[in-house]
This record gives sequence, C-alpha cells and structure tokens, in this order.
Amino acid sequence: MNERDSETLAGMLEGMGYEYCPEFRDADVCVLNTCSVREHADKRFFGVLGQLKNPHEQYPGRITCVCGCMMQQQVHIDTLKAKYPWVDLVFGTHNIADFPKLFANVASERRKIVDVWKDAGPIAEGLPAKREYPFKAYVSIMQGCNNFCTYCIVPYTRGRERSRAPEQVLSEIRQLAASGTKEIMLLGQNVNSYAGVAGDDSGLQDLRAEFGLDPGARVTFPQLLRMIDRIEGIERVRFMTSHPKDLSDDLIRCFAELKHLCRQIHLPVQAGSDRVLKTMNRHYDSAHYMELIDKLRAACPDIAISTDIIVGFPGETEDDFMSTVELVRKVRYDSAFTFIYSVRKGTPAEKMTDQVPEEVKHQRFDRLLDVIHEIQEEKAAADQDALLPVLVEGFSKTDPDVLTGRTDSNKTVDLTVSQKTMDAYGIDRPGELIGRIIPVKIVKAQTFSLYGEAV
Ligand code: SAH
Ligand code: SF4
Repeated sequence: MNERDSETLAGMLEGMGYEYCPEFRDADVCVLNTCSVREHADKRFFGVLGQLKNPHEQYPGRITCVCGCMMQQQVHIDTLKAKYPWVDLVFGTHNIADFPKLFANVASERRKIVDVWKDAGPIAEGLPAKREYPFKAYVSIMQGCNNFCTYCIVPYTRGRERSRAPEQVLSEIRQLAASGTKEIMLLGQNVNSYAGVAGDDSGLQDLRAEFGLDPGARVTFPQLLRMIDRIEGIERVRFMTSHPKDLSDDLIRCFAELKHLCRQIHLPVQAGSDRVLKTMNRHYDSAHYMELIDKLRAACPDIAISTDIIVGFPGETEDDFMSTVELVRKVRYDSAFTFIYSVRKGTPAEKMTDQVPEEVKHQRFDRLLDVIHEIQEEKAAADQDALLPVLVEGFSKTDPDVLTGRTDSNKTVDLTVSQKTMDAYGIDRPGELIGRIIPVKIVKAQTFSLYGEAV
C-alpha cells in the first residue's frame, strides 16, 4: 500500500517537473513515505533521516518532506519537531492528494508546514502515478481497515474501510491494459470485504448489462474479479491481502473459473493457537482456516499458498507456539513471511501484561523458520523439469546475462535464452523478452530460487 502511495507521490513530482534522482543524498527534493507496521520500520525512517541531516545543513535549498503511516501518530510528529526541525513538510496518509499544493507552498514561501488529517475523506481519484514497470502494476481497490487486530497499527494510521467505485477500478485497469500492462496486483488491507458502489459512468456499458452494474449496485470482490477477468490484454491478476474470516466460497470458485486469476493466494494466518487467535481478535480458529485451505485446494489443486505469521504475541506459551508449527506442517506453505511480535503504541496488545521475553521470541522465530524452510525445500523439488509460463521482468541483479521473471504462482525464476530460442522469437537480444510471458523449462529447482531456460 505504501509503495503504491509512493508511485502517486513520484507521479505528482514528475508532474511538477522533477526527475527521479537515484541517489537520495544528492536530490533537491526528498520525500520519505514512512511505514509503521513494526518498530523496525520506524527505526529505519529515523536512520535515513539522520543520513539526510548533513547534506541538508550543507545545502539548505533542499526540500525534505515526510509522510505516511508514522505521521498519523502524534508521538512521531513531536519527535520531528524536537529533533529534526529542518524537515520542511509533514503530511499524512489521508491528505496525500494535497501534496502538490502543500509542496508548492513550501517551495515558494520557504515556510514549514505540518498538515496531518486525523480522519480520511472520500478516496481521491485520478491522481497521477509513476509506476516501476510498464508491464505490471498495483491497483488499489480499497483503503483502510475495520478489523482492529489487537497487535496492529494499520486501522489507526489508515482509517476505516473505503472501497473505490467499481468503474474507477475497471477504467484504471483498462487504461493500464491499453498501455501494455499484463499483470495487475489488486491491493487492499482486506480485499474480501470490498464493497464498491457502482456510479453512473457511461464508459462501461458492456459490463453494465452483463453484470447488472446499475448505478447504486453493490459489487463484491468476486464480482469485481469476474469483471476484471474480461479486460482484454490483462493476462495475470493477483490480489493482496485477504482475511480468512471473510474468504467466501464465491471467491474460492473464482480460482477454478477465472482464466486470468493466478493460482496463488496470500492468506495470513498469524498464529495456529485458537487462544492466541482469539486474543489477536482475528475472528476465526485454526479449524476454520484449515477448512479454507482444503476448499482452495479442492477448487485449484496446484494453488500456491503463502501466509504471514507473528511469533511471540503476548501470552504465547510453548504449547501455543507448537500449535503454529503444527498448522504450518499441515498446510505446507509455499512461502511464509514470519514476524517477531513488535509492540505498537496505542494498540490493545501494547497493554497486555504477559509480553514474551525477547530471547524466547527470537528462539521461536528461528525454530519456525527452520520448519518453513524444510517444507519449502521439499516442495521446490516438484518444480524440477516443469515447463512454466514466466513473465520476464528484467535482468538478474547478480548476472547481467541472465533474465529474471515470475511464475503464475509468484515464484522468482532466473533464466537464460539460447541463440536458437532467440531466433525462434525473431529477436537479437534476450532483453527483448522483458515484459512478455514465455514458457520456461526449470532446470534447477532450489529452495529459494528456480533456474530455467527459455524455450
Ligand atoms: N491486512 C493484512 C496485513 C497487513 S500488515 C492482513 O490482515 O492480512 C502485514 C503483516 O504484518 C500482518 O499480516 C502481520 O503478520 C504483520 N504485523 C502487523 N502488525 C504487527 C506487529 N505489531 N508485530 C509484528 N508483525 C505485525
Ligand atoms: Fe492490521 Fe488486522 Fe487490519 Fe490486517 S486486518 S491491517 S492485520 S488490523
């Protein structure tokens, strides 16, 4: 979500005539878009700001702006005022659309502005975006979160759930498709609770008749996916993130029915212990979660499943932790993002008295990682010699002769292209395949990386 916001900010700066500067210490304007999901993110922000201090003192013409989730918390604004008074502009997640106006005031009058809105207004449409790739794009379908998981800061920094109107989402994707985008990632804190209300946009007559998109009609997430699946030119659709409590049978059916929906789902479980899930306020138990996994695999047998897990939530006992390990072994995730619980100020979990000691958290984290890696290693072998469609994204960072891309299940593949294959494609250089989806034969399948040959 934060990266998608950065694309908007970069698009706005471009609109004001600025160019991207690869080295931030040399830039005339720095915009730091902060994340606050864990303490580590907060610390990194202050680390980067510290690095900017000297160049700023040597070059007072530089304009430094900070925004994002950290700025929605007064404690951080107070720290900025006290310790970093040279920061020129502070704004929040809810008034990102005002950035050009705020920036123009700062630049012309050389005065400092702090403008953070406590609450969100309606979703701003039609903002520019400077996207990283021409062939794949993030598309935000909703903002905010209503779930208030007890550990999480997001509902406080991003406000309540608001869904974009379906015609806004669809016309953005149509425009992307027209300019060559092949893959889209739909974004929301909980896409399953998408509830867009159709307006009276006249550009969607075809979908309007077929899907009953009368003005005022409510559109669910599976309905939105079905409409997106029809958009000419979009070959891959992914989404992130879906909350297990709202994963409907209708959405599961989409994996069996829709041609362009990738066979991949990110379904954060957070913990395997029902007691911990309850204190986390997740509104499901491990049996319900396992039922969802079974239904997903019945609808789409080779679906790749990934998750998020928090280790060391307050009150987590060794038995609770072992329930998480057991669930991980049952699901056999293709990948898992594991996090050590990080206390977030102002959340209910901050006030829980039975915080787990640091060394126990770290030790459990390492043990969980070992189990996840063991499963990934076993699963990687299944890709050996497979022929997989890969969207070629660019050159490998470690070897400029090797291309890199992603499979339908979102695994990264490094690949080589023989002269014979280039001749078959009628191209002179492997780089001409960037942005295309091509078949790749996997020649080496390792735990964290696949190596293949374009065929
Ligand atoms: N809306 C998404 C998650 C967004 S935050 C969802 O509910 O699935 C991404 C992940 O960060 C979460 O899934 C959770 O695993 C992790 N996370 C959030 N708050 C955290 C905290 N206080 N400490 C550690 N991890 C946290
Ligand atoms: Fe945070 Fe829970 Fe909302 Fe996800 S669903 S953003 S974890 S409060």
